[in-house]
Amino acid sequence: MRNGMTQPLETTLAPDDWTELRYEQAYCAGNWLGSRPNERIDIQNPSTGEVIGSVPCLGIEEARDAIIAARAAQPAWQGLLPRQRGDVLMRWHDLLMRHRRQLAALMTKEQGKPLADAIGEIEYGASFIRWFAEEASRLYGEVIPSHLSARRLFVQREALGVVGLITPWNFPSAMLARKAAAALAAGCSAVAVPSVLTPFSALALAALGEKAGLPPGIFSVLTGNPAVLGGELCRNDGVRGISFTGSTEVGRLLMAQCAPSIKRLSLELGGHAPFIVFSDVDVESAAKAAAEAKYQTGGQDCLAANRIFVHRSIYQGFLDAFVRAAKSIRVGDGFDQATDMGPLINRQTLAKSEAHVADAVGKGARLLTGGRRLPQGELFYEPTVLADVTSEMKIMHEETFGPVAAITAFDEEAEVLAAANNTEYGLVAYVFTSDLSRSHRVSDALEYGMVAVNTVKLTGAPIPFGGIKQSGIGREGSRYGLDEFTTLKYVCTAV
Ligand code: NAD
Repeated sequence: MRNGMTQPLETTLAPDDWTELRYEQAYCAGNWLGSRPNERIDIQNPSTGEVIGSVPCLGIEEARDAIIAARAAQPAWQGLLPRQRGDVLMRWHDLLMRHRRQLAALMTKEQGKPLADAIGEIEYGASFIRWFAEEASRLYGEVIPSHLSARRLFVQREALGVVGLITPWNFPSAMLARKAAAALAAGCSAVAVPSVLTPFSALALAALGEKAGLPPGIFSVLTGNPAVLGGELCRNDGVRGISFTGSTEVGRLLMAQCAPSIKRLSLELGGHAPFIVFSDVDVESAAKAAAEAKYQTGGQDCLAANRIFVHRSIYQGFLDAFVRAAKSIRVGDGFDQATDMGPLINRQTLAKSEAHVADAVGKGARLLTGGRRLPQGELFYEPTVLADVTSEMKIMHEETFGPVAAITAFDEEAEVLAAANNTEYGLVAYVFTSDLSRSHRVSDALEYGMVAVNTVKLTGAPIPFGGIKQSGIGREGSRYGLDEFTTLKYVCTAV
């Protein structure tokens, strides 16, 4: 998720700004819940390893309470005028924007990303709340020209009901804001389960939502084991839809868990983005763009450029420029204003990057830079560049979710398209070319939900974000985003 909204900090933060919106209780059915001391989960700063607080480890009982409250509160929420729901959402947006520095600091503490990126994420998340606050009034139905005599036929869009929102740690605020805003605008109530690695950003959203006037039960944020809480959301008959962002593997599991109760599913899953550079581009700027698409959020981004294909005629020049860009990235603590890239989220993510590098080098790839841990802390890894990768290497088939760039050369357009599409993923593809016809031809041929041509900035509230194939189903943001949380009712009236 590159949002293009990152801006320089206007002011420096006070050292304890991040504690202002740190809630160490879960928000369930309109109540802030604690738990017994031995049932709490410590939350760590991935940059330092420091424990920055703890949250309750809730279980199935609390999940059921939240679902019951959500069901009870939903009809009245749906019964409000769309403008009234929009007004509450707009107040929520305003509160996020007013507290964006504190929210960003909290995010940097629990997620590790640079503060400027965290501010960008808060603004990005808030933009969805504003967008859907406005879209609430545009839930149009349709009058159908009748095929029956003396009948009036129409279709209206109604809220799905209670929905479960399960979100990851890489964009701990925006992913939840994007889902919740659409669900609530549509008139649904929601029970959210954020990643247990980054629950504070979600709890802060809940606190500001409460302040904005979301009625009790309309938006709960539960903390605890996501398999337990998410499992209950999937199995419970009271929940009518699940919206999940995370890996394809977990998406598949949730889909199976939802099968018995036939729930609506919206899944934003893994990506394995190809980044294709044709020979007719400015090599330096294409390499810079590719490095940005690779290393943003330390590569822990479903839109990360995972496979970089460069035309052989410019390959060496591209490699040189890309390595320069990788080497210029300053890795460090997110609170240091000089930092471009923070730590990885945990040891598994770091281990996956290391495994991909070892596998690729073992099979003949050239390590041009990086490939080592950094002394800044346990979870810091160098921006890494591998050249001459081949399809036998794991990195060409699996999402790395780390700062390792895999670059290879190609000769023909047809060859690179076949390679780019040779994956079960289909989230985003990037193309760099100055040939207009080719840009259209290649965009058409790429089997992806989103294609970015000569840019790496493509997301935002007005666009339908989502993938095809095993990258997911459904779209978030845009006017299509409400579809995930509404259902059609057809009414036939004899007149
Ligand atoms: P993951 O699927 O293991 O975890 C994602 C979240 O799912 C977790 O934070 C947790 O809250 C929840 N979860 C995990 N196991 C669960 C279970 N059994 N039941 C219910 N919920 C469960 O993924 P990850 O490795 O932590 O995150 C990275 C993955 O997420 C990558 O594959 C990435 O591409 C994907 N992602 C996709 C998007 C998108 O919009 N397409 C955005 C961000 C991340």
